[in-house]
Amino acid sequence: MKNIIFALVVCLGLLAGCSNSDHSAPKNGLQRWAANQGKIKVLSTVAMIDELVRLVGGSHVDGLTLIQGDLDPHAYQPVKGDDEKFLMADLVFYNGLGLEHGPSWQHYLSHQDKAVGIGNRLNEEYPSLILYDDAGQRDPHIWTDISLWAKTVPYIVEALSRFDPEHAEEYRANGDSLYQKMMATHEELYDKMQQIPEKQRFFVTSHDAFNYFTRAYLSTSEERLDETWHKRFAAPEGLAPDSQLSTTDIQEIIDHLRLYHVHILFPESNLSKDSIRKLVQAGKEAGLDLMIADIPLYGDAMGPPGSTGDTYLKMIEHNVDILSQYLIKNRIGDDEQTATEISGNGFTTDSKL
Ligand SMILES: [Zn+2]
Repeated sequence: MKNIIFALVVCLGLLAGCSNSDHSAPKNGLQRWAANQGKIKVLSTVAMIDELVRLVGGSHVDGLTLIQGDLDPHAYQPVKGDDEKFLMADLVFYNGLGLEHGPSWQHYLSHQDKAVGIGNRLNEEYPSLILYDDAGQRDPHIWTDISLWAKTVPYIVEALSRFDPEHAEEYRANGDSLYQKMMATHEELYDKMQQIPEKQRFFVTSHDAFNYFTRAYLSTSEERLDETWHKRFAAPEGLAPDSQLSTTDIQEIIDHLRLYHVHILFPESNLSKDSIRKLVQAGKEAGLDLMIADIPLYGDAMGPPGSTGDTYLKMIEHNVDILSQYLIKNRIGDDEQTATEISGNGFTTDSKL
């Protein structure tokens, strides 16, 4: 009887979550996940983690992403219905490093044996690889460097194997294969980005999500040693998106754009363009020629099914392709190109936005 009452409570909670919130999974997907399929129910906070889990777990795992679509993972707070998902999950994977923050998250994630913070584990094992902002906050965007994201695969293998020892060998083999594929793609993308002339490998986006990416793909080996690669990337908004920019925030980026001859600003797929529009306006008033790339980068969210970012590796490949395509045209110094010349070749001015 107890079980029946529990099941009823869970079902009612799920239905309420589905009807009251866009944050829930599609009803069928959630109901399928909630049903007993004889598989390990894994809840991952973001799609980039869910994909790794599915690839390692194969047919033994039924994965569900908590923060779906274009929702900002920094700002997300658990909503009605999420508590049932946490309750039903056999395992929960989250990024950690401050991505999922706030009191609600602490309630769900801390002190739970079944919750694994893959970024936190990375921080414990490789502390020197983790980046911090000026305020001492850890940068959670480790997925933007495939070689770092690949280092989290063993934590998923370990957790699945502990929960389901019978298939441990399969998880290990899947994990090894995934790791190899990720590292091969990492090398390929590194070579592609390094083909862009060194003086053109600078870029600006809306929020501070691409530091790991910049260190991994845009920097020179000397810059990685002396930690001067930071100059190659800047954003007006901090580690968590916040479009309330101060005049100081804007001026700092304008100075950066001028110093490094950056003419192109990249929007992010799941964020408003307000910040970069403000930068374009302020830059014009300061005499700079600025443009906004008309194809956004994927920062904190993968793309929808059928898009160029509908898998984790495609998401990073898309970013490399777009940056390669645009930065190669971002000619600087004596050879500077005007906005008129490159307009119509994949760029748009603010007047079209
Ligand atoms: Zn972010």
